[in-house]
Amino acid sequence: MGLAPLESQNNFEYWQQHVDYTMDVKMDVNTFNYGGSQKLIYTNNAPEDLERVFYHLFYNAFQPGSEMDVRSSTIADADPRVGNRISKLQKEDFGFINVASLTQNKKPVSYVVVGTVLEVELNEPIKSGESAVFEMVFEGQVPPVIRRAGKNSKEGVALSMAQWYPKIAEYDFEGWHADPYIGREFHGVWGNFDVKLTLDKNYTVGGTGYLQNPNEIGHGYGIKDTKSDSDLLTWHFVAPNVHDFTWAADPNFVHDTLQVPNGPMLHFLYKKSLKRKYKKHWKGLQQPTSEIMQYYSNNVGKYPYKQYSVIQGGDGGMEYGMCTLITGERSFESLVGVTAHEIGHTWFQFLMASNESKHPWLDEGFAEYTCTLIENTILGIETSEPMKRNFDRYFRLAQSGKEQPMSTHADRFVYNAAYGISTYSKGALVLAQLRYIIGEENFWKTLKKYHDKWAFKHPTPNDFIRCAETASGLELDWFLTDWTQTTNTIDYSVKNAVAAAGQTIVTLERIGLMPMPVEVQIVTKDGGLKEYYIPLQMMRGERPLRGSEILLKDWAWAYPEYSFSIDVDPSQIDSITVDVNKSTADINRENNQLKLL
Ligand SMILES: [Zn+2]
Repeated sequence: MGLAPLESQNNFEYWQQHVDYTMDVKMDVNTFNYGGSQKLIYTNNAPEDLERVFYHLFYNAFQPGSEMDVRSSTIADADPRVGNRISKLQKEDFGFINVASLTQNKKPVSYVVVGTVLEVELNEPIKSGESAVFEMVFEGQVPPVIRRAGKNSKEGVALSMAQWYPKIAEYDFEGWHADPYIGREFHGVWGNFDVKLTLDKNYTVGGTGYLQNPNEIGHGYGIKDTKSDSDLLTWHFVAPNVHDFTWAADPNFVHDTLQVPNGPMLHFLYKKSLKRKYKKHWKGLQQPTSEIMQYYSNNVGKYPYKQYSVIQGGDGGMEYGMCTLITGERSFESLVGVTAHEIGHTWFQFLMASNESKHPWLDEGFAEYTCTLIENTILGIETSEPMKRNFDRYFRLAQSGKEQPMSTHADRFVYNAAYGISTYSKGALVLAQLRYIIGEENFWKTLKKYHDKWAFKHPTPNDFIRCAETASGLELDWFLTDWTQTTNTIDYSVKNAVAAAGQTIVTLERIGLMPMPVEVQIVTKDGGLKEYYIPLQMMRGERPLRGSEILLKDWAWAYPEYSFSIDVDPSQIDSITVDVNKSTADINRENNQLKLL
């Protein structure tokens, strides 16, 4: 008992489920069939008993007629990587995960496969606070890489094994999240993985988890000291406190390592057969990757694992626990960019594990914003508008008539493009504008608080904004609500400036529905510069003032106009500008400046 903590969800005490997976799996690299056993100890920390559980069987999406297939064939702007490729798959290329048997506490349970979800009726409920042991025998077939995972990627990587095992769905304060696999995926249960993979001894494996038997394996992990006549090797990985387990393997991988000072060991796995220029990029990537790691560790929170792997694989760039799969045939800038983005996800998804289906912007937008900053530093790009691309993309979306609120479920956008721009760019602008609203110092304090409070948990948008509120002392729910749950836009303008007894009365106008505090810059004809700051009344405070900035009275949102007077005659004024630094997503910047003649 006791008072609920201020930042808990729905005013209840925070809790989360827990998993311990032990898997022993064998992969046939010729047929791409695999299978084995999975023992799952599932602990129900929910305040209620559970009578059913659900597993994701992601690979079932890669069969003609699946929801992913049909959605891709019926959406106006399909992801070109998917298109109608699933509908054309032949049987030998189908993806699937078949469950051969399943027991709960040693007794068989009944289950039914519904597309990409396994529905399990429990023999006996898992009581609140208790654990159940599920033992499963399963077999799978790896589809070609169509989306994220699969065999024989376009660049010839043999195995990109994401979303490959029967994965229990998350149950949290909102209940079950047994989402079918249509497009988006991450909301997994935190826990520990112990995974044994047996496959052809010529394959080098990289992925989530620490290798337990490096000297049996070699392959750049250890000095091989055991001889074996077998054509197979068994790789034993342990991954503590993660919510996913991913791996990739290829007989042609180069394996480089680099130690991050005060950080993890980095592993780079990429094809020996890459063209020379690409291989050069992969060598050149290694030092920047160390800098990216240090940037996030210093600015958000220390990287908590001993290892991170950048692995060539998949179909673009995708984040996983302790690793990323990225395509490798890229310009140097693109390779650094994608690596920075995916490493950003270590924090914004693999530590602060928000529900990606419901709030995709909370990880994608934040990864995008932060990676752009570090990427510019590494590539030596100096710009006063680092988020210009994201602003421009958002402006185009907002004016297209195709925008849906960011709070839309990630699978329910009418257009993929609207999902993408909303999630990545408008999502990045959450941070860009929050920095404007609460100020530089409070902004970085917020990210640290968010990490310290929510790493290894499942934060929601409200949990994030509460961190910003406690860091800044300001009320910010209006920002979260308008920016993420509506398509309201920001538009402030300088309406006029009139003379009044040697003074000037400046009138500003709020044209858009979305509120914002306002910064005004006035340049006088003699080159003088005055900066004013108008807090939004509903913030109930103001950000710290900068330099010689002058604090004006609050602007209460409902008033469309706001006037203030300055001690200069209009004839002395050259220009009056709102948001001169282009920090807000003001939808019409044409009316932001008034030039006086
Ligand atoms: Zn991302």
